[in-house]
Amino acid sequence: MTSPSQISAHPDTKSFDVRSIREDFPILQTKIYGKPLIYFDNAATSQKPRQVIDRLVQYYEHENANIHRGVYYLSERASEAYEGARDSLQKLLNAAGRNEIIFVRGATEGINLVASSWGRANLKAGDEVIVSHMEHHANIVPWQLICEEKGAILKVIPINDKGEMNLEAYKSLLSEKTKFVSVVYVSNSIGTINPVKEVIEAAHAYNIPVLLDGCQAAPHLEIDVQDLDCDFFVFSGHKTFGPTGIGILYGKEKYLDAMPPYQSGGDMIKQVSFWRTTFKELPYKFEAGTPHIEGAIGLATAFEYVTNIGRSNIHAYEQKLLAHATQKIAAVDGLRIIGTAKNKIPVISFVVEGAHPLDIGTLLDFEGVAVRTGNHCTQPLMDCFGVSATCRVSLAFYNTVKEIDEFVIALEKVIKKIKS
Ligand code: PMP
Repeated sequence: MTSPSQISAHPDTKSFDVRSIREDFPILQTKIYGKPLIYFDNAATSQKPRQVIDRLVQYYEHENANIHRGVYYLSERASEAYEGARDSLQKLLNAAGRNEIIFVRGATEGINLVASSWGRANLKAGDEVIVSHMEHHANIVPWQLICEEKGAILKVIPINDKGEMNLEAYKSLLSEKTKFVSVVYVSNSIGTINPVKEVIEAAHAYNIPVLLDGCQAAPHLEIDVQDLDCDFFVFSGHKTFGPTGIGILYGKEKYLDAMPPYQSGGDMIKQVSFWRTTFKELPYKFEAGTPHIEGAIGLATAFEYVTNIGRSNIHAYEQKLLAHATQKIAAVDGLRIIGTAKNKIPVISFVVEGAHPLDIGTLLDFEGVAVRTGNHCTQPLMDCFGVSATCRVSLAFYNTVKEIDEFVIALEKVIKKIKS
């Protein structure tokens, strides 16, 4: 069994040996209809390395107990592992304090927490909240609801035809009326890496807090929340090689401290009577009820795993995959790539003349290929490109050039079949 402290540097840290990395991911050996799995749906959820799976098994076999409340050995051990995960994630995200790391169910819950708690306490009629045109629905709807409730207005940063954020238009939206900016760091649908440092700097000139939806950034980019200077940062564990049902809300202490609780109940209170309740300090004020203990531990293990491989190694390798995949996919007859930003993670969305994305995805499955089809929870973005759905290839550091080549052969075969 592997515990976080036992994970040593990956044997091939310097040369980035994808073959040995793939051996860490048992699911990649799966055969689908007798064909080797080509898993290209990493933006929806990532696969998990053996180190994470083993850590979860170890937790259930040797450490399982409820945390914080027990005075016995197992409960103390589980509490230590849970709080240790917070410490590890604080370090790896470079947050200034452990109080700034809140365990949530995922990005969706993190954004809802901020929109609900911060929004309810701070927004009033006529105020403005800014999001971009390429947001996931999870970063639109919570703001829409709180704006509706408070009489505030949602403003939208436009994008160009490559799928890049229009920074000048963004800056012209900022005013004394703007109270919050909430933008996606990296688009899940088209892979654009947004210039978030500039977004944050411009908002801070007006003292406006900024939330980054880091769901697609965390699996691909080095995350240093102090360097970014974002006020909030959310991501989901399951997209970052960790368990499902766990995620992180990072928030600067000055904001989190001033925000009222989001959910309430056990573990987040200091004192309860029928007349009055007082709440615990951060981070516990925002962690009501029994948390996803093993999820937090597994997420820290996943982050440690990625750090050991080396973020810069991963980035360099993924950029090679992206360049290769873009060139090969773009060459397919009748195919149009949706989203051609200069800075991208390895996500390629496309449509094919005369072939519905759903049909392409369904037939690719029979070839052992898993891709996502649909609007990717970004309907406004799809509208921008005049499409209702795309096929999306989203790669991770365990994918290979060979898989890309095999995918393109399979894609050409299914397109031919659909059109015949
Ligand atoms: N934001 C982005 C950019 C995403 O890609 C996703 C998941 N597709 C979410 C938010 C929501 O994440 P979750 O469903 O894990 O809460």
